[in-house]
Amino acid sequence: MHDETERLRALHQLKLLDTPASEAFDRITRMAAQIFDLPIAAISLTDSDRQWFKSRVGVEHQTLPREGAPCTHVAETNAALVVVDLAEDPSYAASPLAAQGVRFYAGVPLVTPAGHGLGALCVLGYSRRTVTAPEMRALDDLAAMVMVQIELQHALGRIDPVSGLPNRRQLIEDLDDFARDHGGQRRLLVLVDIARDDQLNQGRRVMGSVFVDDLVIESARQLYAALGKQRTAYHVGATQFAFLAPADVDDEVYALHLGSRLKAIMSTARARFVMTSAIGVAPFLAGVTRPNDVLRAAFAAAQDARSDNVAVRLHSTASDAAQARRFSLLHAFEEALGQSDQLRLVYQPRIDLASGQCLGAEALLRWQHPRLGDVPPSEFIPIVEQTSIVRQTTRWVLNTAIAQLAAWGKANVALQLSVNISAANLDEPDFAARVQLTLLRHRVAADRLELEITESAVLGNSAMAQTQLETLAACGVRLAIDDFGTGYSSLAYLQRLPTKVVKIDQSFVRDLADKASDRMLVQSMIGLSHGLGYRVVAEGVETPAAAAILRELGCEEAQGYFFARPMEAMDLAGWIAGNDAAVAGVVRVA
Ligand code: C2E
Ligand code: MG
Ligand code: MG
Repeated sequence: MHDETERLRALHQLKLLDTPASEAFDRITRMAAQIFDLPIAAISLTDSDRQWFKSRVGVEHQTLPREGAPCTHVAETNAALVVVDLAEDPSYAASPLAAQGVRFYAGVPLVTPAGHGLGALCVLGYSRRTVTAPEMRALDDLAAMVMVQIELQHALGRIDPVSGLPNRRQLIEDLDDFARDHGGQRRLLVLVDIARDDQLNQGRRVMGSVFVDDLVIESARQLYAALGKQRTAYHVGATQFAFLAPADVDDEVYALHLGSRLKAIMSTARARFVMTSAIGVAPFLAGVTRPNDVLRAAFAAAQDARSDNVAVRLHSTASDAAQARRFSLLHAFEEALGQSDQLRLVYQPRIDLASGQCLGAEALLRWQHPRLGDVPPSEFIPIVEQTSIVRQTTRWVLNTAIAQLAAWGKANVALQLSVNISAANLDEPDFAARVQLTLLRHRVAADRLELEITESAVLGNSAMAQTQLETLAACGVRLAIDDFGTGYSSLAYLQRLPTKVVKIDQSFVRDLADKASDRMLVQSMIGLSHGLGYRVVAEGVETPAAAAILRELGCEEAQGYFFARPMEAMDLAGWIAGNDAAVAGVVRVA
């Protein structure tokens, strides 16, 4: 009886019963009928009360009562059965099959790798018949093909081939069913990530790729045993499992206890493998929260647990809201790129510290959303930079900036303009060529343009990025390293790049006048940069004291609110004229 329970569990887990016919199985049944030259063949699965045909040739009905069917005997004994004449066989003379005029039966078992008989592949005829040994061997081969097909579907379907647990697809389907039956019920989905990436990699390195399989199988076994028959464990990612918490538990209390409970549950697996689990718990309302969103929230919570170095994290709706805002901002920004009235560039003067003259400006992107108002680049640029929209964005900025340079040139305003580009731009194979083309189209000399790349962007630079930078430098475009000092790179490394300018990040400049340590840092940054032939620009100069110190330290240029805030294009020429006059005045007085 126990075996029968296990056998039925194995059969039901395959989710084959009551599924539509499929050519992959029908092909095998047709071959069986042909080999035996018989009118009937079937792939018959033995359920608790019926024989159900996954595939059949020559029969109308799809089920038979389990009782009295020869296939039942094959499934229960896991052995082939040949009945030369049903009418003469005391076991089957009164069976439904015999009543339909069937006389001959030959069936071989369909056996899972774990040894469970699922049913039989059988051939039937309307007259008495015997079989030959080659015929039975052929039937055995065909049965093996049926099993391969079942395992294939299984692997591609709803059961994870490694753990044997229902997979992510099945969880989503079950959550849908759950919503149908228990709409409005509030439950918790628990996601267990069994090991850290470095632990997996380490294990793989030492023990090979079977390591992960073993770890998963062991963990699945523990989890399955702990949850019992009433609750299902799902295998939802390479090393991630999920299950539903019991109804009516308190979120916080349950999450709190889960950590220590899980430690006990996974103890055997833990004894064999070095692993640190992280658990995410996501509350949801059945029928209200979409199953995919529930799972995503649980994943996110487990990730948060990992990054915060705690065992369990309850999904917070706050991080969900932040996620949603990022998502909607990205879409709104993509739309803004196609409109003419939301995006514009503003320009912040760059001052030569020795002479006080304005030599150039930095173009900075501004976005005025019709409903949200001004969205700062510090919020939207990092989001945009994670997507392919960054290409269009930089293209828009470069076009606008270079067109503006051309307009200033016509008005005899001689300036150099800096434009910020993103790391991903350097991976566009035609990036350098496009920049050159834009310069040509607007008849702007390449040395009027400077491109700013953040230190972190050039750090992970590819061969492609290096080529792009070299092409740009060769045609005369200046290259600057932005936010210098924030990326922990050495100047010696940066020296391999064809960059000429270093922009010291504002975080070092902000407290320059008050903090001796910052002054020391900036002094050594300037010294090193000069030693390597760089021109140095300081960002974020807000006070005259900071400007004075920078001048003293030999910093060439500065940019900051002390001199000017970023301004509209049409205001810049006027500002420069005023500044030039003031500088001339200062010089005269001096
Ligand atoms: P960034 O390139 O380092 O630009 C300097 C930022 O510092 C600008 O912020 C500027 O307004 C601000 N700033 C200038 N002087 C001062 C000062 O004295 N004090 C303070 N506290 N801040 C000052 P903004 O315009 O908000 O831009 C922020 C960042 O967004 C930029 O940093 C840059 O990384 C990025 N960004 C802006 N426009 C673009 C663009 O067109 N393309 C790309 N890829 N990134 C851009
Ligand atoms: Mg910049
Ligand atoms: Mg900067």
